[in-house]
Amino acid sequence: MSVLNAEQLTGRVRSHVLDSPEFGCILHPEAMAAFRGLRAAAAKSDIDLVAVSSFRSFEHQLTIWNDKFHGRRPLLDRDGSALDRAVLAEAELVRAILLWSALPGASRHHWGTEIDLIDRAALPSRQRPQLVPAEYAPGGVFERLGAWLPQHCEGYGFFLPYDRDRGGVRPEPWHLSFAPVSGPSLPALTADVLAAALAGADLAGAGVVRRQLHDIHARYVRAVSPPGATALAAVRL
Ligand SMILES: [Zn+2]
Repeated sequence: MSVLNAEQLTGRVRSHVLDSPEFGCILHPEAMAAFRGLRAAAAKSDIDLVAVSSFRSFEHQLTIWNDKFHGRRPLLDRDGSALDRAVLAEAELVRAILLWSALPGASRHHWGTEIDLIDRAALPSRQRPQLVPAEYAPGGVFERLGAWLPQHCEGYGFFLPYDRDRGGVRPEPWHLSFAPVSGPSLPALTADVLAAALAGADLAGAGVVRRQLHDIHARYVRAVSPPGATALAAVRL
């Protein structure tokens, strides 16, 4: 059983990930091997599985967070419409960021077990994927992928942690997690581990985050779908 340590779970080291120029992604070695198998299986259904996001460091997530807080990146409401950050109190601003972006240290993408997927074969040239649920629903550009992933990913050790709205992260039908590593690692990312990772960081809204850290941890770290037995027991490739 692989359990990531505190520095790996909070994205402050890269000792647990490999860079694959072939697949254009950075993943834990076991997740990379499983992704190779999943990609080959998808190809048989004429799906060209491409990772648009994989490992992300603490520093990268911190930049995203601070940019949103300071208005350097757009801020969206629950429906994906633009929000005017000028009218929001600091606590509301933090809540709005958390709808679509993880707190640095609390992103599962730090683990190297998480991957956001599109079907390049279905994407018209020049069209950019938005990563919104409508793309993966019937009638959407990735409709076939949206149906294929839940049916096939478990055999390769993957599951969908954000399968539905659980009061924290919005549903993400594009986000897969490699269960044999992420499943046993999740309990190790405690609120105390998260607090320690944030202690020395130049985090915008740090006062609000500190006061709400236990609630943020419960909603945005722990409130995910548990992996099924099939995914957890997937054969190591
Ligand atoms: Zn993701």
